[in-house]
Amino acid sequence: MKMTELYIPTLREVPAEAELISHQLLLRAGMIRKLVSGVYTYLPLGYRVIKKIENIVREEMDAINSQETLMSALTPSELWKESGRWEDFGPEMFRLHDRNSREFCLGPTHEEVFTDLIRYEVKSYKQLPLSLYQIQTKYRDEKRPRFGLMRCKEFIMKDAYTFDRDVEGMKAAYDKMWDAYVKVFDRCGLDYKIVEGDAGAMGGSDSHEFIALSELGESVIAYCDSCNYAATDEKAVCGYTVENSDEMMDVEKVHTPSVGTIEELEKFFNTGADSFVKTLLYKTSEETVAVLIPGNKNLNETKLINVLSVPEHELEMADDETVKDVTGAEVGFAGPMGLKEGVRIIVDSRVTKMRNFIVGANETDYHTKNVNYGRDFEGEVAEDLLMVEEGDACHKCGAPLKMDRGNEVGNIFQLGTKYSKALNATYLDENGKEQLIVMGSHGIGVSRTLAAVIEQYNDENGIIWPISVAPYQAIVTVVNAKKEEQLELGTKIYDELKSKGIEVILDDRKERAGVKFKDADLIGIPLRINVGKMASENIVEFSLRKDCVKSEMGVDEAIEKVLEAVK
Ligand code: ATP
Ligand code: MG
Repeated sequence: MKMTELYIPTLREVPAEAELISHQLLLRAGMIRKLVSGVYTYLPLGYRVIKKIENIVREEMDAINSQETLMSALTPSELWKESGRWEDFGPEMFRLHDRNSREFCLGPTHEEVFTDLIRYEVKSYKQLPLSLYQIQTKYRDEKRPRFGLMRCKEFIMKDAYTFDRDVEGMKAAYDKMWDAYVKVFDRCGLDYKIVEGDAGAMGGSDSHEFIALSELGESVIAYCDSCNYAATDEKAVCGYTVENSDEMMDVEKVHTPSVGTIEELEKFFNTGADSFVKTLLYKTSEETVAVLIPGNKNLNETKLINVLSVPEHELEMADDETVKDVTGAEVGFAGPMGLKEGVRIIVDSRVTKMRNFIVGANETDYHTKNVNYGRDFEGEVAEDLLMVEEGDACHKCGAPLKMDRGNEVGNIFQLGTKYSKALNATYLDENGKEQLIVMGSHGIGVSRTLAAVIEQYNDENGIIWPISVAPYQAIVTVVNAKKEEQLELGTKIYDELKSKGIEVILDDRKERAGVKFKDADLIGIPLRINVGKMASENIVEFSLRKDCVKSEMGVDEAIEKVLEAVK
């Protein structure tokens, strides 16, 4: 395309609402525009990149014999009610009804819809295994849509579903997806880590997430350099251990007027946070739960959700009223002894190993010291409810864990039979016996991947696209478009590159050279040819956006360089 015909509304200023560099650059480079919070329009440049990423995904899915389909985003409530997710999804689901009051939702994901399709069509073991996918728009009413394309209410996802006869088959399909994802994200040029994810919410067993590394990413991961263990912070096992064989001392109530936080308590008792046990009060739709963890550690809510087996949106911290009701005290003095009847007590296993710790007394301005699990109170013991921290021992090999941040661009799940059971998707095996289909579910955030690439490929002047996903591969800038010989040579190079299949922009605008170079930097086209003063001698400048090192050369050589780089 010629720049004079392209719609690239670039912005000089950094938009105030954009925190992440990818969000800023997507807006500034004229690639997206916000419609409302969490909903974006893709402009021509941005949409070209989306299509590039989609095609990479498509090629790699096709290569493992997953077959492309397209399901409706508008899905009937009945299916979601069958699986139980009409309730479980909670406020994240966009619900609506038609003129006859029939309920629908805009699909946040499509396990039910795909399972529904195959339950009527797949009847025999001979039709399995089967792998289907789609690239489609998803809708989620996110609590905090933010960071531009990273967390939207409407976004583009590739979702694949595998159907197998048995767990072995499901695992083989999972491994194939894994390999395909590696190819996809390698081709996109991303620096990423593959980590264990929490499969609780989806109802499956094994799950891995592909995290594109980025300092400001929303996902936190823990990893071990010595044994390669890596997991999201939600999933990572906290290897914190407690060894204490002190004699149990007598319980003692201590007056602690207006001492509430762990820091204040540390000062008051002149001891470390590891001498305390925190009692955190939570509410679900069914009950109030007291969770006990070591005072120097943080609760991992995902692990608690898994223990409680409730949908994520149903767990919330108890409000002040509830706290006062179940403790009979002001906020800040909760403890495990003397809670109102019916409060469920869940204890992290480390608490059972601590000796003579301090807890709230369930009485305003009082704490209790020398408390011991077993002797003074009991509860349901959960192996691990703690959030990992940098330096915690790896539970596999004991080395200190490291932490990093990034954005989840893809994830693979072994679902097992959760959905086939709920929707009764079965097949007849070789012996004519009815069996549940064993499923997997595998997503890639196509639009989030676009943002993740920019997070990793930018400098102070703009985006630096990897060639594989660049909206155009090359840009020919006519330095002074008022000069006939420059415009002529620029157009000739542009035509030739186009005829050779190169995706190229001709910047033929009658703008100052500085403006054109700035725009070229901003939109980040990887290969560039500047046609300037030496045009009459058939000499141009070739450079890469990556390093901006310009070298003068003959036209043919510059064209050759472009062709080579694209190949
Ligand atoms: P997250 O933990 O970030 O909310 P998720 O676990 O809900 O993600 P999945 O349901 O596994 O995500 O969806 C598959 C992929 O879709 C994710 O790996 C991610 O890349 C992308 N994705 C999920 N939610 C959003 C969103 N709100 N906006 C953009 N992309 C998203
Ligand atoms: Mg989510």
